[in-house]
Amino acid sequence: MNINKIAEQNYDWVERMGWHNKTTLEALALVASEVGEAINECRGEQPTEEFAEELADIILRVLDIAHWQGIDMEQTLQAKMEKNQQRGTRGRVK
Ligand SMILES: [Mg+2]
Repeated sequence: MNINKIAEQNYDWVERMGWHNKTTLEALALVASEVGEAINECRGEQPTEEFAEELADIILRVLDIAHWQGIDMEQTLQAKMEKNQQRGTRGRVK
């Protein structure tokens, strides 16, 4: 499935649930909370089985913001990866 379609489906579900935030700052704070949850799943020697779900939560919350703001994440991700690759190492050692 195209990432924009996933974003649309997730956005529609969150809207039906009445859970959308009023500001992008609130929505970004929830991305940060999901990052915290992912961190908690990595406190042992190996990430837990729930780690993958927390990564999914991070992505879904980001996609929700993107859809809300009319951002084409499929195109944006491709363009950003190309931009990163053209930048080279920027002085960093492998
Ligand atoms: Mg979570």
